[in-house]
Amino acid sequence: MAVSDHVDLPTFMEGVKKRNPHQPEFVQAVQEVAEDIFEFIGDKEDYHAQQILRRIAEPDRVVSFRVCWEDDAGNIRVQRGYRVQNNNAIGPYKGGIRFHPSVNESVLKFLAFEQTFKNALTGLPMGGGKGGSNFNPKGKSVREIMRFCQSFMTELYRHIGADVDVPAGDIGVGGREIGYMFGQYKRITNEFTGVLTGKGLEWGGSLIRTEATGYGAVYFLANMLATKGEDLVGKTAVISGSGNVATHAAEKIVQLGGKVLTLSDSGGFVHDPDGITQEKIDWVKTHKTHRRGRMQDYVAAFPGATFHEGKTPWGVPCDVALPCATQNELLGEDARTLVANGCRAVAEGANMPTDLDGVHVFKAARLLYAPGKASNAGGVAVSGLEMSQNSARRAWKEEELQQMLKDIMLGIHQSCLTYGDQGGGYIDYVKGANIAGRKKVADAMLAFGVV
Ligand code: NDP
Repeated sequence: MAVSDHVDLPTFMEGVKKRNPHQPEFVQAVQEVAEDIFEFIGDKEDYHAQQILRRIAEPDRVVSFRVCWEDDAGNIRVQRGYRVQNNNAIGPYKGGIRFHPSVNESVLKFLAFEQTFKNALTGLPMGGGKGGSNFNPKGKSVREIMRFCQSFMTELYRHIGADVDVPAGDIGVGGREIGYMFGQYKRITNEFTGVLTGKGLEWGGSLIRTEATGYGAVYFLANMLATKGEDLVGKTAVISGSGNVATHAAEKIVQLGGKVLTLSDSGGFVHDPDGITQEKIDWVKTHKTHRRGRMQDYVAAFPGATFHEGKTPWGVPCDVALPCATQNELLGEDARTLVANGCRAVAEGANMPTDLDGVHVFKAARLLYAPGKASNAGGVAVSGLEMSQNSARRAWKEEELQQMLKDIMLGIHQSCLTYGDQGGGYIDYVKGANIAGRKKVADAMLAFGVV
């Protein structure tokens, strides 16, 4: 008799834990999705008979490789590189590359898993993947970063391609690193194709890619507020992070009439009660990106602000919150504090910044709460548009792309409403995003038979 995966959630999760020992982030990501999906597929016998849940919780492949490079002092350094190709049911694998000491197989598997559903939500034909290395770019010279990127690509190139797997940037990987990796890919293969996104405008990049994740998160936030007849004018926002996503989210909040109170980095957070204006955001961008400075220096540049060493910003009362730094940076206790302080909406710019306890707190409080896979999909959406432009050998205008980004974020919001409307004015965006993204991938997998 055929074995079905028609088991209960604890039994299913027991199996996931057993098959993925020492991978807490991956197990957490699967658990979060499974909690919503189980109810939805309860009566869908086809999914069970075809073991879709089991198959979706298993990456297509995980590639791990050695990356050797030489530092400026002539020492040989050894790092580990990865590419997780999670699922290509609806398009080529697509997802960022992260350079950070915390990178390991569990973190990348969770990110690739989430990426798969996020990409599906955009409505564009992209599968899900993620890659990176435990290389720490902090404190490295530009030459060291170049040598590392070249060595990383010397192995990665054989696993990617414009119709196979299209990586992009993530934490620690910006335009400069994409340039070094693209240069090395081109040198090895002698091909100029859209194999990476986040490229420079002169060599195949797309306008608004840099801004897209942060802007998109705020468009999504505005869409959520609109369901309550509200907008961002006069609203106070607490934002974590001070990188690409955080600074562009802050910029869009300011453009839409809100007041940004905080930004942060791994050293602590800045609280500026006067508001972090466009001029101050520009200073942060230059200071963090070009000078590789720290957020604690903000208070010397803008007196009136305070720096809170080693702390996260969630205790600052606000109307809306945008976690835009990293995974598990907003814990259950922080979520309770935000709710108690009257926060009305949370849109995640980062991937899985809220831990499971925090997610449960936001759901119980019936907050307007958007998980990253819905609200931060703007970045990968514009990456998808970059792929289209590369294939067509053309470049769209900024206004066209801005409109496409807005439309895509609105479309994702609509998908969340379709599957997440719980009645009584409450929309469960986590459930909506999990079901909408996963349904598309699962239905494609069903069509392919047992592969
Ligand atoms: P950046 O590298 O530009 O910035 C990351 C920011 O987060 C920095 O301010 C960094 O501070 C801070 N940070 C990192 N680790 C911690 C920590 N443990 N505690 C507190 N702060 C920390 O990355 P991005 O802005 O590109 O990415 C941020 C998040 O958004 C990530 O989760 C990423 O996966 C996600 N994301 C990014 C997309 C993009 O288009 N860039 C697309 C979709 C999601 P410090 O300088 O001290 O390290």
